[in-house]
Amino acid sequence: MDVRDNFRRSVLELAPYAVSGHPAKIKLNQNESPFDVPEALKKEIIDEFIRKNWNRYPEVFSVELPKRLSEIHGLPSDSFIVANGSNELIYTVAISIVREGTEVLIPQPTFYFFEKISRILGGEIRKVYADGDLNFDEKGILATGRKMKNGLIIIGSPNNPTGKSVSREFIVELLKSTGAIVLLDEAYIEFSDKPSSVDLVGSNRNLVILRTFSKAFSLAGLRMGYLVAHPETAFEILKVKIPFTVNPLSEFTALKLLEHRALFADRVKLLKEQRAFMTSRLRVMEGVRVIDSDANFFLFSTPLPAGRIFEELLERQSVLVRDVSSYPLLERYLRVNAGTEEESAYFIRSMLECLERLAV
Ligand code: PMP
Repeated sequence: MDVRDNFRRSVLELAPYAVSGHPAKIKLNQNESPFDVPEALKKEIIDEFIRKNWNRYPEVFSVELPKRLSEIHGLPSDSFIVANGSNELIYTVAISIVREGTEVLIPQPTFYFFEKISRILGGEIRKVYADGDLNFDEKGILATGRKMKNGLIIIGSPNNPTGKSVSREFIVELLKSTGAIVLLDEAYIEFSDKPSSVDLVGSNRNLVILRTFSKAFSLAGLRMGYLVAHPETAFEILKVKIPFTVNPLSEFTALKLLEHRALFADRVKLLKEQRAFMTSRLRVMEGVRVIDSDANFFLFSTPLPAGRIFEELLERQSVLVRDVSSYPLLERYLRVNAGTEEESAYFIRSMLECLERLAV
């Protein structure tokens, strides 16, 4: 008996998740916020949380956070589904829609997680590749989307790892012209100068938007993400969601952080300044190409193999970035996120030394 005979073929064919567990002094590889939740606020949250019952189950599906999000976004609270990170919602949405043979359009290159769950479920993946500057091929996506009577289209905007966004006119046009559900992942929208598409869900039942507290709200460690859709669409997706995945401490913390939106907006501003500093300094280095980004990270390439730069930065400088050279179109590219002022300056010094040593 081979135990593997029991598994879906799509699971057996899957590569294991690569964990990037290198210890480093400067960590710029996971698009996190370099700023933690302030200690005084952490203490206030824990002090209040101690007084709650820990022996009782929370609500099956969160109630308080959707209510608050509903006030903030000006949409009904049944437009929101809260989850243990937006990754959970990518799975939940995909499970609700994708079965053997379902068409799933995923513009490339992008966050691999989209393709992974679609493959596990037996989806037929359709890929539309970015142009030479890594901008979305909006015409190509529209042409493929128009042919889809149903299925799923997954777009990150701003996109990981390119940092590129789709235009609002494109989203409006796509929603009108396709029969598929459009899953728009806005994990990095706070760092973009372009507006969110959340206001479009009221009039577009085929739009599902993902947001997260992991990036702009400094909360990657506590896991909190949410989905925004028309109530009729959210109703179907909620049937699939695993009950009780939202930790009450995480939900309570998210509610508290929403009372401090000005603080997080200041941090976003500072990170955008660091992004500008890092990109402008890299751009003047011999042979370095930098891709403009709407997110808290960006791509850059050098004439050397990305793996060489990755290793030099890590081993000599203890700076951890992400080698994305195995993604389609991204040979020689690395991704780095904006850090604190000190971290960003240290990264730039490290890059100068690294390129000098490798005699580019
Ligand atoms: N979507 C994108 C595009 C991401 O890059 C990430 C995190 N790397 C996620 C979703 C997952 O975020 P969360 O921490 O909310 O699960």
